Amino acid sequence: MQENPADLEITATSINRIILKEYVMPELPEVETIKNELLPHVKGRRIIDVDIRRDSTVRGMTPEEFKRCLIGRRVEDLERHGKYLVFDLDNGGHLAMHMKLSGSLWVKKSEDEVPNYIKAVLALDNGEKIFLRDPRAFARIWLVNDVCEITDKLGPEPLAKEFTADVLAERLKGKGAPIKSVLIDQVVIAGIGNMYADEILYAAKIDPRRAAVSLNREEIERIYQAIKTILPQGIASKGASVQDYFRPSGEEGSQQFNFKVAHRKKATCACGGPIERIVVRGRGTYYCPNCQK
Ligand SMILES: [Zn+2]
Repeated sequence: MQENPADLEITATSINRIILKEYVMPELPEVETIKNELLPHVKGRRIIDVDIRRDSTVRGMTPEEFKRCLIGRRVEDLERHGKYLVFDLDNGGHLAMHMKLSGSLWVKKSEDEVPNYIKAVLALDNGEKIFLRDPRAFARIWLVNDVCEITDKLGPEPLAKEFTADVLAERLKGKGAPIKSVLIDQVVIAGIGNMYADEILYAAKIDPRRAAVSLNREEIERIYQAIKTILPQGIASKGASVQDYFRPSGEEGSQQFNFKVAHRKKATCACGGPIERIVVRGRGTYYCPNCQK
C-alpha cells in the first residue's frame, strides 16, 4: 500500500471530481481518534462474519480468502501506525486498514444507522458491527502476517517521545523539496498530511514553499514545537470533519473549527491579512503570506 497520492488509482470520473473539489484525507489525529474510540468495542471480541460489498476494497487476496482467514479471529488490540489502523488478531496476524480519501468506520448494531456507501462489514460476537463507509471507494483493507510490512516503509511517529528536534533535523537534512512536501512524505515522518502540515507551518511561521534544506536550527525547532502542539490538539478535538471523516459513533470531530489557515481561503488571518491558497507540488496549500516567511 503506497501513501503517495499519485497512487490513488484515480479514474477519469474521480479526476473530474478532484479538479472540482479538493479532497481532505484522514490524518494522524483522525486515525488515532478512530483507534481510541473503536478499541472498547472490539478488544477481546471475536469476528463472527465478514461481508465485502466491494471486491477491490480487499487487497492481497480474494474476498473469499479474506473472509476465510478473518472469520473466527479474536481482536487482541488496535494500533495506529502513521495513517494506518491495525487490528492485532489472536493468531498473530493483523488486519490492516487505510482510510485513504474518504473512509470512516462506524460501530452500530444495525445498518439502518449508517449512511450509504458501505464497502465492508465486520460482525462481532457482541452483536455490534463495524461498517467501513467510503463514498470515494479508495479505502483499503488487507491481512498481514507481520506488522513490519506496514511500519518498515514509514518514517518515525511524530508523537513518540523518541521523536526529538534532533530527529526532525536529521530527517530534513539535504532535502531540497518544499518543507510542506517533505512534512507530508510518509517516509520522512508518519501521519502528517495536507491539512495538519498547513497548520504546523502556520504555527511555526514558515513559508510552505521554503526548501527544507534552507531551514536553520531555530526554524526547525519551531516546526518541531508546532508538530508536538498541533497534532495533540487534533486528537483532543477528535479529529477534523472537513469532508467525509466521522468518528465510530457517527459524530463529527471539531478540530476544523480550530484551524487557523487550513481550508480557510479568503478568511482573515489574526494579523489582518488574507489567507491564501496556493499549490505546492500538486497539493492545495493554505498560508498567510504576511505571517509565514
Ligand atoms: Zn497572518
